[in-house]
Amino acid sequence: MSLNLDTVVERFCEKFEASGNLSEKAGAYIPGGYSRSSLTFGPHAIFVERGEGAYIQTIEGHQLLDLHNCFSCNILGHNHPAVTEAITEFAPNGFCFGNPMEHEHKLAKILCERIESVEKVIFSCSGSEACLSAIRIARANTGKNKIAKFEGGYHGLGDEFLLSLHPDPALLAGPADRPLPVANSAGIPNYTAANVIVLPQNDLESCERILTENASDTAGVIMELQTGAGGVIDFDPDFVHGLRDVTQKLGILLIVDEVITLRAAFNGMQSLFGILPDLTVMGKIIGGGLPLGAVGGQEKYFRMHDEHLIYHSGTNHGHPLSTIAGIACMETMNKKAYKKLNDFGSRIKTELNEWADEKQYPFFVNGTGSHLGYEITDEPNRKYKSCRDMMTFSNEDNMQIFAFEMANQGIFPMYRGQIALSMSMSKKDIDSFINTSKEILDALYGNS
Ligand code: PMP
Repeated sequence: MSLNLDTVVERFCEKFEASGNLSEKAGAYIPGGYSRSSLTFGPHAIFVERGEGAYIQTIEGHQLLDLHNCFSCNILGHNHPAVTEAITEFAPNGFCFGNPMEHEHKLAKILCERIESVEKVIFSCSGSEACLSAIRIARANTGKNKIAKFEGGYHGLGDEFLLSLHPDPALLAGPADRPLPVANSAGIPNYTAANVIVLPQNDLESCERILTENASDTAGVIMELQTGAGGVIDFDPDFVHGLRDVTQKLGILLIVDEVITLRAAFNGMQSLFGILPDLTVMGKIIGGGLPLGAVGGQEKYFRMHDEHLIYHSGTNHGHPLSTIAGIACMETMNKKAYKKLNDFGSRIKTELNEWADEKQYPFFVNGTGSHLGYEITDEPNRKYKSCRDMMTFSNEDNMQIFAFEMANQGIFPMYRGQIALSMSMSKKDIDSFINTSKEILDALYGNS
């Protein structure tokens, strides 16, 4: 089998023809065809009819092994009985009320008990909203204005966060050790960029210098402990610990965005690093596949909420169906479940990395636990320390071929090399991803 982008895309378009047609039709009413910019998978998104366990069924009737899992939300897989039963049992009671319900408190308790740095939690509907709340809390508690974020860091659709997700180093992004904010969307006002400081990944010395210069007006640093939507980059433990110390020393709150990384460990990825952030943002798995976001942290940062000094409200915040689904999901995700899922993840990572090293293929897998990123690089043994490395050395054509060919062969990854595993997967499903990866790489690099 020899692979090139044109033929792979051609087969993709043939296999998912009905989705292509529907995408075009959807464009008549929804600009771009979908309400999520991120859904486009090359030529068009793949429309789905239903999901069951580890698989989705497309409108063409194809069964795909789902390694996307709604951008890593579905940690249990699709239609998991724990979640489905919980929400169908509740549904006849009505869906939403201008009154609180008990399950919101039950889920809050679960999160506070699991995440050591979290003593109080407030809910919203999405990770994006929770990130926006987190920076408001940081500003309110410090009396400062600016927010620092990392190049390659993703925190949802807020103006502040859509800077430097994928900065183009050759053009506007400035030197690697002093990055400048670059808007990744039209419509971001100049005054937003003036209030955002952009930090380089895995470069503690530069972060300390930049934060020290801006300390008097910087309220918070927001970071993922392993990036996701910006491409998967792992952080050195020394870097993360150093940043915790620097922010503490400078009176800047450290906001850890665990929207994805909560799936890495029973006590959150922060427990793997052994750090206690000031604020933690949560989302995705805490809603069990339904929309939910949350910010948590030490009690002292929420006193202004108790005193009604910080506004935090939304019609569907802590929605009963989402919190009920979230409880079912989090309770199912006990320590044993995390171990099973993470063992699958480390098998993929170890086996593919050892195999690619041996073959001297320019490929590696990054990440921890059940959320991983595969990368096709310019040369063997290349490893990425930052999103700039990724943007400079990634072989974009081969990354695309890999993703489309996966879909052609019945596996659905996220577009930018991310994969997220689910509890519904079996050993056979993991074998299938490993073997298909090897086949595609052999076809690309010639040793088949
Ligand atoms: N933070 C991170 C780390 C994310 O990955 C995402 C979503 N991919 C968000 C925030 C935004 O969450 P949502 O899409 O639920 O608004």
